[in-house]
Amino acid sequence: MIQAPRGTKDIFTSEAYLWAHIENILRDIFYRFNFSEIRTPMFENTELFTRSVGEDSDIAQKEMYTFMDKGGRSLTLKPEGTAPTVRCAIQNNLFESSPKLFYITPAFRYERPQSGRYREFHQCGAESFADSTPTCDAEIISLASQILNALGIKGAALKINSIGCENCRPKYNLTLKNFIADNLKNLCGDCQNRFELNPLRILDCKNDSCKKILNNAPSVLNSLCDECKLHFEILKNLLTDLNIFYEVDDKIVRGLDYYTRTVFEFIYDNSAICGGGRYDNLVSELGAKKIPAVGFGFGMERMINAIKAQNLFDNCQVKLDLFIGNIGENAVKKSFLIANTLRCAGFNIEYNNLNRSVKSQIKTACKFNAKFFTIIGDDEIKNGSVKIKNLLTKSETQIDINSINKFLEEN
Ligand code: AMP
Repeated sequence: MIQAPRGTKDIFTSEAYLWAHIENILRDIFYRFNFSEIRTPMFENTELFTRSVGEDSDIAQKEMYTFMDKGGRSLTLKPEGTAPTVRCAIQNNLFESSPKLFYITPAFRYERPQSGRYREFHQCGAESFADSTPTCDAEIISLASQILNALGIKGAALKINSIGCENCRPKYNLTLKNFIADNLKNLCGDCQNRFELNPLRILDCKNDSCKKILNNAPSVLNSLCDECKLHFEILKNLLTDLNIFYEVDDKIVRGLDYYTRTVFEFIYDNSAICGGGRYDNLVSELGAKKIPAVGFGFGMERMINAIKAQNLFDNCQVKLDLFIGNIGENAVKKSFLIANTLRCAGFNIEYNNLNRSVKSQIKTACKFNAKFFTIIGDDEIKNGSVKIKNLLTKSETQIDINSINKFLEEN
């Protein structure tokens, strides 16, 4: 038996309904904030990701699904949503016409599968371009926070930090390297490799013994230039004005290379359910003019896990308005035709097309969460009248066979 590949997950029936339900809520909130949807290809030229997420990042080094196509091109399944969004915005010149974009997309990373970590997962993200103000950062954080509120997810803690800009980061990198130099041999191999290339990333290491050493590392916040300091102060004040509770965590740097100034995470159950930040240089690094940007990505599986753990939307199934049962060949045809008319009128309808007992037809109607049940036989066809049973209250109403539509509308 061929199984789904390791680290992937089939989503079906009530779970698929839950996903669709959540996606509807997400779209609703994105539209409230005037974000437009973007759908980019599932694969991109590999160079897009090596140039954006950073050649020495975990994603580029270990996690990308990269392959040569039959034309000899190196392609990569998208490991995240930001770089494709930027590529698409550059290519289609969206920065003026639609500077606020959102996506809901599968993403692929070759990681060790574990709870909340998959090889194919889904991200929902937002990217806001052409606005360098801290107000724009606050708007993005407020959007993420409203998503959590709308879904009813409680207990996600917002952590924010600033990792400075091209003016002050080099100074911090030196300070950090001076601190790390003495402990370098005690850090893991990955951290040792990053020491020269990208010391800031060492703060992002998940290895417990590295974390312990880095607990006492000098704070990036002490190295910020005046502009970055002011940006961060204004952001913090705005979050307070918005009643968004946050904690400053100077160890948050995020795993991707492109961030500047603000970075943030919403931590739920010890892992980031959402991560984001400002990236003022990515657009120019990918070949366009300098356009500031800020955005976030939610891990949707983590979102769904939180929703399940908190018993939100526990009754997620499409409900049938009516199940039409029948006895005899003529009645099967009649119920099929009635089902079609009612479906055209906008009701969710199923009818029986199997030779089975009335009892088993009622059982099926209950299984599909039907609100009403009716049974059609030769008598009902002859008299033009049917009995409709409410499967919850068990009450029955006799009505004209041609007025089922009206009955469903009124009940
Ligand atoms: P990142 O692009 O690494 O900032 O990730 C954004 C969000 O995607 C994270 O906060 C996670 O919730 C989610 N995420 C990242 N990698 C995975 C994965 N392998 N499986 C499931 N969710 C993930």
